[in-house]
Amino acid sequence: MRPGESTFAADATLTCIEGARIHDPAHGRDGVVGDIWFEGGRIIEPPSAERRAAASIIAGRGLVAMPGGVDLHSHVVGPKVAAGRRISPHLARGPVAAVPTIAATGDLYASLGYTTVFDAAIATTSAGIARMELDDLPNLDKGMYLLAADDHDVLASIASGSEAETARLVGDIVRAGAGWAVKIANPGGAVFWKQGLRGDHRDLDDAVPGFDLTPRRILERTQRAVAAAGLPHCLHVHTVNLGLPGNWRTTLETMKTLDGLRAHLAHVQFHSYSGGGLDAEAFGSGVTPLVEYFDAHPSLTLDVGQVLFGDTVAMTGDSTAAEHLAHATGVPWMSHDLHLEGGCGVMPIRYREKSLVHAWQWAIGLEWFLSVADPWRLVLSTDHPNGAHFLAYPLLMRLLGDESFRREALSRIHPAVRRKSPLAGISRQYTLNELCIVTRAAPARIAGLPQKGHLGPGADADITLYRPDPDLSRMFAMPAKVFKGGVLVAEDGHVRRRVAGRLLAASS
Ligand SMILES: [Zn+2]
Repeated sequence: MRPGESTFAADATLTCIEGARIHDPAHGRDGVVGDIWFEGGRIIEPPSAERRAAASIIAGRGLVAMPGGVDLHSHVVGPKVAAGRRISPHLARGPVAAVPTIAATGDLYASLGYTTVFDAAIATTSAGIARMELDDLPNLDKGMYLLAADDHDVLASIASGSEAETARLVGDIVRAGAGWAVKIANPGGAVFWKQGLRGDHRDLDDAVPGFDLTPRRILERTQRAVAAAGLPHCLHVHTVNLGLPGNWRTTLETMKTLDGLRAHLAHVQFHSYSGGGLDAEAFGSGVTPLVEYFDAHPSLTLDVGQVLFGDTVAMTGDSTAAEHLAHATGVPWMSHDLHLEGGCGVMPIRYREKSLVHAWQWAIGLEWFLSVADPWRLVLSTDHPNGAHFLAYPLLMRLLGDESFRREALSRIHPAVRRKSPLAGISRQYTLNELCIVTRAAPARIAGLPQKGHLGPGADADITLYRPDPDLSRMFAMPAKVFKGGVLVAEDGHVRRRVAGRLLAASS
């Protein structure tokens, strides 16, 4: 614990935020003026007139109130993030490191209005160290997804065909490791990698060496095991062929494989490319058929993994994808097998407006956001720091909510993408309520957090107050006030107090 930090003790004071414009899409409130009452860290029904007299009042007039932000796919702790820090000491976003320290990560998220974060890829063998780092991450409730399907025992159990045994094993691994969910990163990929099979395209039906398995069977059986184990979040899927031209077909096959039970597709932007072979000009968007399928199959949800231009650090549990990217860019990279369970690749990357591939990645992410019909099934993410730093979320929110700003940005990117991307023909703008859905209401619901992402009685008093501003980037970059469990933790971009936050573990 650091000076000025307290263990998480919610403020017991009865408090009212008075007269704010409330965005609470879970309860159908779209900018209605009202009061928000909380006490003991929870939102409550308005109390009796008698009790109100003793309440602490916060002036909300003229401010926009939303639930605290929920980031369901980020990379903030564990060995991969530490490697990212070591490989990128020269990279910074203004005064902020490309991969901030753990304390700075908590402070920066809080000053951005976010109050919950999940690390989306921790090897089971690293769960202990990652958990200690999560304990150290201030101002946020936090959890992690474990890469349980990389474990030899789990793969052997899946191959044996005993569904009950796989469910027991997966549940035990997540609960013993204090994880929240199971993430699958390139199913079977770590096995191919360890066997020295590092070629490019792989199919869902290729045999996984040493096991009577295919990536498709690993997906199907892990999905069922997660459901049977009763974990709060469904299987979190990073499928095969991340980043490769023509991979939209693999993604469509993945959706068809997973359809019927709940599944969450991570960073779909990196999995939605057309083209193939050596013809760079053929590279492009494969979003249209994917959105068509996604819209019609409500058991699936996704986060986008938006790319934004500038310097960042790529980090993935998918060694094969990292190696491919390193070869394509010529950038030095790091790889380490984590106790021979799982894999990892880390390297700096600069996304450039005038790069054909980077411009396509930028346009493809936005195309996903602006094409999916139901914002409740879609989550705003940059796969921090892979597509961009989480501090770029306000810029992304402006790109979604301000068509003229987006057109201006589109006019600067590689001319071939400008000409060919369906983005040029999309005029949709996200409303404030839709931005609220994709940054808090939907991710809370999808992650399995009934006490978050809304402002109804019983919800955690995680509340962000913004100053309305036609420049959405400025509005979302610096909330006026951020409450974590009823405690004022940040104000006008400054951290006012550090609270420890809770570990979100499936066992608790
Ligand atoms: Zn990720």
